[in-house]
Order: sequence, then structure tokens, then C-alpha cells
Amino acid sequence: MLECRCAPTVDPTDEHNRVVGRRGGPTPTGDELQHMLDAVEVHPLLCAVAHLTGDFSLLRADLAPDQAQMLVPGRGLGPDQEAEARALAGQALLEHEASGAPPHELSPDEVTLVFDFLVGPSSTPQWSDFLVEELALAGTDPRAPSWRLQEIAPSRDFRCVVIGAGISGLAAAYRLRQAGFTVTVFEKNDDVGGTWLQNVYPGCRVDVPNQLYSFSFAQSDAWVGRYSAQPDLLAYLRRVTEELRLHSCIRFSTEVTEARYEADTQRWVVEIRRADGTTTSEHADALVSAVGQLNRPSFPAIAGRDSFGGPSFHSAEWDDSVSLDGRRVAVVGTGASAAQFVPAVADAAAHLDLYQRTPPWLMPTENYRDPFPPAYHSLLERVPTYGRWDRLWQFWLMHEGLLPAAKVDPTWPDQRHSVSESNDFMRAMLADLLRAQVPDEALFDKMVPRFPPFAKRALRDDGIWAATVQQEHVELITEPISEITTTGIRTTDGSERPADVVIYGTGFTASQFLTPMRLLGRGGVELNEQWDGDARAYLGMTVPEFPNFFMLYGPNTNLVINGSIIVMVECQVRYIVEALGQLLRTGHHAMSCRSDVHDAYNDEIDAGNKEMVWGVTDVPSWYRNRRGRIAQNWPFGLLDYWERTRHPDLADYELT
Ligand code: NAP
Repeated sequence: MLECRCAPTVDPTDEHNRVVGRRGGPTPTGDELQHMLDAVEVHPLLCAVAHLTGDFSLLRADLAPDQAQMLVPGRGLGPDQEAEARALAGQALLEHEASGAPPHELSPDEVTLVFDFLVGPSSTPQWSDFLVEELALAGTDPRAPSWRLQEIAPSRDFRCVVIGAGISGLAAAYRLRQAGFTVTVFEKNDDVGGTWLQNVYPGCRVDVPNQLYSFSFAQSDAWVGRYSAQPDLLAYLRRVTEELRLHSCIRFSTEVTEARYEADTQRWVVEIRRADGTTTSEHADALVSAVGQLNRPSFPAIAGRDSFGGPSFHSAEWDDSVSLDGRRVAVVGTGASAAQFVPAVADAAAHLDLYQRTPPWLMPTENYRDPFPPAYHSLLERVPTYGRWDRLWQFWLMHEGLLPAAKVDPTWPDQRHSVSESNDFMRAMLADLLRAQVPDEALFDKMVPRFPPFAKRALRDDGIWAATVQQEHVELITEPISEITTTGIRTTDGSERPADVVIYGTGFTASQFLTPMRLLGRGGVELNEQWDGDARAYLGMTVPEFPNFFMLYGPNTNLVINGSIIVMVECQVRYIVEALGQLLRTGHHAMSCRSDVHDAYNDEIDAGNKEMVWGVTDVPSWYRNRRGRIAQNWPFGLLDYWERTRHPDLADYELT
């Protein structure tokens, strides 16, 4: 397996090297070892040391995480038990090092033993295969195709076109090539990264632990912190592209403008426009859209927006040439992007007006912007197995996450502010945490959301949002905007506040999935027109009458409160590769999803979303399309999606 053990982005200092105690360097002292053991989480530490040493006595039942307390620090262990566990791990590590024995290799039974400890014996049978894939132990790649095109259809040259070289497109290109397909990726930008290339606003950062927000087949131990800043994530994607040698199949600065299915050749004709304006067309046997959802800026339809006389821009088109220093800045929007760039804007501006329509729920995350201590990376050097178990631990912590607290209890009396007992508990907890940060009652009243938690994505926050909003020169404005004037912003109460610069943190046109690209299927029907603002697909990937066309991160595959979107994308990529493999084995050329399968699936999704908090509240969100349907979100658990996509069933398709 190609393993991406990229170099740390932070340059380790000599001091760091000394503490790490790399081979040939000084041996760490007892204190230094203790420091390393303390820098990491105790449960994955026990698993990693058991893995490295083969000493499974470390995985004592009384030290196992309490699955009912996974959201609580310690996960059921008290401080003394944690200290004991770390001491046991340290002792086992020292003994193993003294013995000179090589790293232990886990047998499948031993893997099960470790899963039993980490996720609980009652979960292991159901989750084991999924966990093995996510763990992807060094030297293994469980999701890799087990066949090659040359073996199953030696006479077929099957060409796949992938649209977009963001995270999803890179995953698709890698797996399709692994299976032996000829792959071309068309990317409108001049570099990889997609949304992580385009969103360069100050403070931009991932809100899922990096270990999970990265590929199972290209794991990295080099993350600077738990949640990377955009430059680190982009650097990871560039390194992966390099190490997996994907550059050769990507054509940069080429935008797919249209794709048409030709019934007679059973192929797609893909129209391409290059950056210099020239156009060309190419053929594809299969077409995979990896255009993402969160990269086409959405500007609010506010009267006078174009009349503003000063500079204005969207967060996803950050204009570095506009100095904010000492100026009056207006920010429209208080969503996930704004929460990240507003503190930096406040640092620079002389005055900041923050226009809020709906206050966000904040998810307290103490270490959100912190780098790992050097001892974390030192431990990883000394216990190389830790990275994998840490990733699996993050996966397990988030696999369901707070999903149960997002489920509607139909008997819950007043659904406007919370939708169940656990949702109400979260509401009270998050409101209390906010109150502790905002003593001013009037300001708190403006900042506390009226809608139930998780109806929209809660924003990770280490306290900086409330601290920023409470600065002297920052004003939180909740009167609705009536107009943007040449010199500022007028609100419905008649007041007008001057602004030198206006910044829109108003999100993306997420529900217009494939626009502005045109996609013409069998019979010439255009997909965006067919959807008419209400995108649907089978498994989020395929649509009847669009043979051999697949989408990644398509309709109803977004996660609100559990897991990482990368897991969903890897499931989708596996499905596409396996489905094409099955198609070619049958000797057919094209597969088109059956309408009855597609419709029944979407009914199920709609019913599922109606049971979730985002499906029953009327708070504005990008999850709901202009027809009022939740077109973005996956309403069920990760295991459900993994099971549905694991083995494609050609009976779901018409084959030609
Ligand atoms: P967003 O969450 O949709 O937020 C848009 C903001 O603009 C909201 O506060 C919205 O108010 C406001 N707005 C929109 N139209 C408006 C109008 N006409 N007048 C006044 N305010 C208006 O967009 P985003 O912040 O770019 O985030 C989108 C998604 O991208 C997130 O949910 C997340 O999934 C992803 N994201 C992730 C990260 C990360 O990983 N850290 C960072 C950024 C984005 P309402 O709430 O009232 O609609």
C-alpha cells in the first residue's frame, strides 16, 4: 500500500529531536517518556502499545472505554485509572525496547481483541469490517479493488473522466487507476484542493479531526494539530497528489462546461473550456462528478448590493489586496466561514459591524486552534502504531457522535427550541456555556440561538467567537438588513451604518449541485432542468437516464453531526469502482439506475430526514433547497451508508 507518512509541517527543532529520542539520538529520560505518554489519549495509546509490543494484557476490561460515556473526557476512567493505564503502557514500551524485539504484527484475531477493547465486544461483530477498512493498518489497503480491468475485461479500454481535483476527485482518480481504468481529471483551477484551494480566508480551518479528514489510504502522522488550518490541509492534498503520482492524469485550468450522453456509442461527450478560452471535447465511458458542494459562493439577494462604492467580496473569494487595517468593516453572515474569519477581521479593523440573521450554536472545542505539543509527535516516532489507532479512535468517537441528539422525539412537547430530551440537554448545556462567556444579558439574548441544536451545523469554537463579539469596536447587529447603500448598510429600523469594506460570509450555492455545468442524459434531458431545484440521486450517486454517470458528495450525502465526509466519499468511490467492474464483467457497456429503485430510495431518505432535527425546524439552512426539501443531508448512521454502498447490486440498474 502506498502510505503517506508526510514530513511534519512544523520543522522539528534540535530540542524536539532530543526529546523524540530518534534512533541514534539520546535515550529519553523517564520524565520525557512520561511527557510523551501524557500528550496522547489513553485508549488509543493502550491499543497502539499492545499492537507494537504484542502485550495484550494491557487491554484490561477495567481500563476499557465506557461506551456510554464517550463524550466525557476520560471516557469513564478516573484520573487514577488513566495514570495507571499510562504507566502500564510506558512499562510495556520500555520492556519491548529493552528486549530488542521487532514490532509485533497483529493477527486477525488480535485485531478483533483490540476492537473488543476499543469499541466494546457487542459492537465488534457489526462494525469489524468497517473498522478494518478505516484502520487500514500500515501495509494494507482494505478498500483497494481486488481486481484489475486487464483481468476482467482484457479487450476493453474503458476511459473514466473525473470532474474536479478536490478531495473527492483525487480519491476517485486514485482508486479508478488502481483498478486499471484510463483516467483523466479535468480541474478548473490550476492546482488540486478544490474548496481547500479556494477558501483562503484568514482562520480557515477544518472542523473534523484531521486524522479522519484525510484518506484511509494515505494516512499522515504529520498533522500540526487536531484540526488543521487550510494551508496544512492543502499541503496534505498536494503531497498525496505527488506521492500517489496523480499529476499525470490531471489537466489543470480546464473546466467541463457540458457533457452529453451519446446513445449510439454509449459514451459521454465531454465539452471542455481551457483557461485561455479555447474549447475541445473528449469522450468518456464513465463520468464521475467530483465538483463538491461548497465552493460556488452565494451572495445574498439584498437590495442595492451592487451599488456599494467600496470594496466588497465573499469569504470564498478573499481579496488580500483590500487592507482592513484601521477601516470600518461590515460582515454579513455568522455561519461556519464567518466564525473563522471574523476574529482576524476584528483584529485588523478599526470598527466591525457584524450582521447576524440567525445566531449559530457553538460547539465548545478547547483545543480547536492549538498545535499538538512536541511530545505528541515524539510519541508517534516512538510508537509508530499510535497514528492508526488514534485515527480509529477519532472515527469511533464521531461515528454516531451526537446523531441521537439530533433525532426527533415525536412526543416531545414543544419542538421549536429542542426536539427530544437529549437535544434539550444539549441546548441547556450549550446555552449555559455561552452564558458563562457573555455576562451581558442583552448581548447573550442576541447570541443564543432560538432553534434546536444541530438543525444547522454547530460551529467549533474555543471561546474566540464570544470574545470577539464583546470587543469594544465590534457591534453585533440583529436588525434585518433592508438595503446596501453606496456607503454602508441600512437596516429595517431605518439606521444606516457606514462601511469602508463589506465582506459576505453568506455560504455557497450548495443545492445547485452541478451548475453551471450542463449534463444531458439519454433523450437529451438536462439534469439541472430535470431536478428543477430539487436534486435527488440513488445513494447520492446515480440518476435514471444518466448512464455511467456518478456523483461524489452528491444529494443527501452530507453529514451534519457525525463522522467525516471523507468516509462517505471513500464509500462512494469504492461503490463506483466496484459497480463498473461488475458492469464490465457482464459484457455490457452502460448502467442506468432504475427509476423505481431511485424513487423508493429517495422516499426513504425523505422519511429519514423528517425524523431529524434539521427536517422539522424552519431555521434557514443550506440543507433545504428552494423547494423546501432537505436535499443535502444523510439522515442515517455511517454504518448504514457503508453497508448500502459496500457491494453494488446490478439489479438496481438497467444494463445496455
Ligand atoms: P452558511 O453556514 O450557510 O452561513 C451563511 C451565513 O450567511 C449565515 O449566517 C446566514 O444566515 C447568512 N446569510 C445568508 N444570506 C443572508 C442574507 N440575505 N442576509 C443576512 N444574512 C445572510 O455558510 P458558510 O459559513 O460558508 O458554511 C457553509 C458550510 O460550509 C458549513 O455548514 C460547513 O459545512 C462548511 N464549512 C466548514 C468549515 C470548516 O470545516 N471549518 C468552514 C466553513 C464552512 P442564516 O443562518 O440566517 O441563513
